Amino acid sequence: MLRRAMSADRADTGAPLPDLNGPVDPTAPLRLLLVEDEPTQLLILAHKLRQAGYVVDTATNGRQALDKLQVGGYSLLLTDWDMPLMDGVELCRALRAAQLPNYVYTLLLTGRDGLDHVVAGLDAGADDYLVKPIEDIELKARLATGRRIVLLEQSLRAANEENRRLSVMDPLTGACNRRYLMDLLPREIERAVRYGRPLSLVMCDLDHFKRVNDTHGHIVGDEVLRAAVRILLEGIRKTDWVARYGGEEFIIVLPETPLREGHALADQLRVKLEQAVFGSNGMTLPVTASFGVAGSEGQVAPGSSMDDLIAQCDESLYVSKTAGRNRTTSQLLR
Ligand code: GH3
Ligand code: MG
Ligand code: MG
Ligand code: MG
Repeated sequence: MLRRAMSADRADTGAPLPDLNGPVDPTAPLRLLLVEDEPTQLLILAHKLRQAGYVVDTATNGRQALDKLQVGGYSLLLTDWDMPLMDGVELCRALRAAQLPNYVYTLLLTGRDGLDHVVAGLDAGADDYLVKPIEDIELKARLATGRRIVLLEQSLRAANEENRRLSVMDPLTGACNRRYLMDLLPREIERAVRYGRPLSLVMCDLDHFKRVNDTHGHIVGDEVLRAAVRILLEGIRKTDWVARYGGEEFIIVLPETPLREGHALADQLRVKLEQAVFGSNGMTLPVTASFGVAGSEGQVAPGSSMDDLIAQCDESLYVSKTAGRNRTTSQLLR
């Protein structure tokens, strides 16, 4: 998204755009926005910054700069103080209020060095300031500080994102984990009740899975589990999701899906599992699963709880199991 939104700016720099949400590459050039209303100063500074290895875009007032910053992708902002339309301090304030997804380290350039003045700039959200005329060596050193902060913030954000991903995912199969299910399913139910929408829930349990482990070992059992989840994930729609409920039991949440459609989808998944070839090293294992579905035809009844839904799914699954396994049973939510 970020890349596409910024593509119009490419002509300005000609440089590849960084993916601020991707892995951190400490050697990649940082994208810097230089804001200065005085054309000669702008040209000279931009040239120096490019020579110093920064990917530089420019703006000539705070408002134009803010528009560019909101599109995203900048790590550093070097802005003049006195400018028409929106000055540097207002820009700092607006930037911090905008709460962009990534931190923009901001250096304010000022012609005045009174203490009140400097404090006002820092209060507005600038990270540092430089008094004109600027010495090249000092500018580079101050920007290097900014670069360190930006890289730190990027790696922190990447680590947070990875933690978030891991905290909702079952590590063996890549399905959502039980915690995610317990957090999100009540919200799906609430949404269905509030907006008068249908909802179906599917429980899937692999048949005689203990035999797979007993005959072929746990490692093969794990492979079968992974492959089965891949088939489930490939067979559902974008708005559906699969969670590992227990060992070889999965719950598939089908928002906006009336029972009849939920049943049809579950039975398609059952057939896909039945027809898939499981196994390795020339050995094939027959794998089947039983499915239990509970869902509404229209609106989910107010007061329906997650426990009710899961219990009714489990009842349906139990019927499939006792009727001989490898089948799909449904019931309308009570
Ligand atoms: P049923 O058709 O009645 O469901 O029979 P079943 O053998 O599948 O059911 P049972 O509940 O008796 O056994 C489930 C088995 O799933 C036992 C357990 O060892 C296995 N299992 C659970 N989690 C894992 C896992 O992460 N890896 C492997 N390899 N096996 C697992
Ligand atoms: Mg100025
Ligand atoms: Mg089982
Ligand atoms: Mg089971």
